Amino acid sequence: MKRRTFVRTTLAAAAAVSLPRRQSLASGFQEAPQAPPDIDAITGAGGQITLRGKDIADLAARLRGRVLLAGDDWYEQARQILNPSFDKHPGLIVQPTGVADIRMAVDFAREHDNLLLAVKCGGHSASGQSTCDGGMMIDLSLFRDVRVDPIARRAWVTGGSLLGQVDHESMAYELVTPMGTVSHTGAGGLVTGGGFGRVARRFGLSVDNLVAVDVVTSDGELRRASKDENPDLFWGVRGGGGNFGVVTNFEFELHPMQRQVVAGRILFPISRARDVLRMYADYAPAARDELSMGFNVFLPPGGEEGMVGLGVCWSGPESEAERVLEPIRKLGTPQLDAIRAMDYVALQRSGDYDDPRARGSYLKSGFVAEMPEALIASIVEGLEGDPRRLTAVFMQQSGGSIGRVPNDATAFAHRDAMGNLLAAVDWKHGDDPSEHIGWLKQFWARLEPYTQGFYTNDLEVDATAGSINANYRGNYDRLVQIKNKYDPGNLFRLNANVRPTVRA
Ligand SMILES: Cc1cc2nc3c(=O)[nH]c(=O)nc-3n(C[C@H](O)[C@H](O)[C@H](O)COP(=O)(O)OP(=O)(O)OC[C@H]3O[C@@H](n4cnc5c(N)ncnc54)[C@H](O)[C@@H]3O)c2cc1C
Repeated sequence: MKRRTFVRTTLAAAAAVSLPRRQSLASGFQEAPQAPPDIDAITGAGGQITLRGKDIADLAARLRGRVLLAGDDWYEQARQILNPSFDKHPGLIVQPTGVADIRMAVDFAREHDNLLLAVKCGGHSASGQSTCDGGMMIDLSLFRDVRVDPIARRAWVTGGSLLGQVDHESMAYELVTPMGTVSHTGAGGLVTGGGFGRVARRFGLSVDNLVAVDVVTSDGELRRASKDENPDLFWGVRGGGGNFGVVTNFEFELHPMQRQVVAGRILFPISRARDVLRMYADYAPAARDELSMGFNVFLPPGGEEGMVGLGVCWSGPESEAERVLEPIRKLGTPQLDAIRAMDYVALQRSGDYDDPRARGSYLKSGFVAEMPEALIASIVEGLEGDPRRLTAVFMQQSGGSIGRVPNDATAFAHRDAMGNLLAAVDWKHGDDPSEHIGWLKQFWARLEPYTQGFYTNDLEVDATAGSINANYRGNYDRLVQIKNKYDPGNLFRLNANVRPTVRA
């Protein structure tokens, strides 16, 4: 039987499973689909195993969602993540439609020698953590749903949902919870790692707005975690990334906020970079919580002149906007001023990619406590363009409500930063990336001395266990205990991995 037929049969079986049993029997789909061939697979520990076709067919028959193997219709699309530099081929992909499917997939992975397991939500991981070669990918793209209760001011967000869905549904009631700045980013990855965004200084990180989560842990159990139930797991999920299981549901607190904010970009020629960064260094830490501002110094591909820009969002009263933006206006006449009253949901979509997989990319990041003159000089003097790539240095602002939470209140351990400094290059997919990556590493060596640790959501491909552990700072020991309890076999290892210290 051809694989394609296998999938179709699987779908028919899945459809039948959702019907009442008699109808299902009458449809004659009660048996597992015919088995595909055995496939070679990789365990989390790197061992080679063979997955029996019969076991895969059994799994497929029990799911409502799909199992995809190489050659199947949807496999190519499902295996891809945002950054095309990661061109990996999972041995099998499970696309669950609900919690029951996720539990079955996790059981399957654990029972097959702890298969290498990747969990994909929005696929934005900069280091390709949501895909793998030879293991299992749980692709949550069929598991997207956001429900809002405007009276209780709560949102329930399934683990595969994208940020844009959360903003769209919440803002329909003029309610908001902090999400990131690109609407096709996944809630699954962004929220479990922290969650910076345009209203985070005002309302805290995404994790600070969580009331509860539901998590499928490595034993296949569904656990609710909140401050009252499994509080250790709740603490760990808020900054510990995907280390403890698949989050199937996030419950968020929502805050009243008007739809219209004063926001947008203002751009100056790169010759003004020092002035703009100096203003930023002084003003950003002192700014009111309702103001979010990031800078971006960039050299476009094609050899065009570089620019320095500020991206702002003022979510306070519109009448106060000009006063709050005064330090920016004092910079003088810009090359472009696109700051205006605009719809928050439109703003949240304004940075979306038109052609998401056209360009490979590589980034480095680190938290900064301040921006001394020497750091500004290192950025401005060290930045070198290349017509073949986009080169950029930018800042995700922290402070405000984010910084008023103690470092050990959640697993997210970098509350004291002024912001997250990032340097990135991107190039046309297909071009040789080595020169661009090499250049960025050299450039970052100039900036790194001013940084401390990194945002786990910007984890690098070549991060060492030592640097990952140290990055959790004083929270690391507690994270190990939680890992030992909920994932002693390290099934969930494709993340900023906390290694268990017990034998499974
Ligand atoms: C264009 C772009 C814009 C960004 N903007 C912001 C921003 O404004 N603010 C910000 O804070 N960060 C931002 N980031 C970083 C972002 O937070 C991380 O890339 C994050 O990991 C993306 O989540 P994802 O679900 O899309 O990624 P994925 O690649 O799908 O997953 C990333 C990690 O999360 C795990 N994971 C995914 N879903 C779940 C789940 N349901 N349960 C448990 N683990 C899960 C995966 O296993 C993997 O380890 C941005 C990244 C990009 C590429």
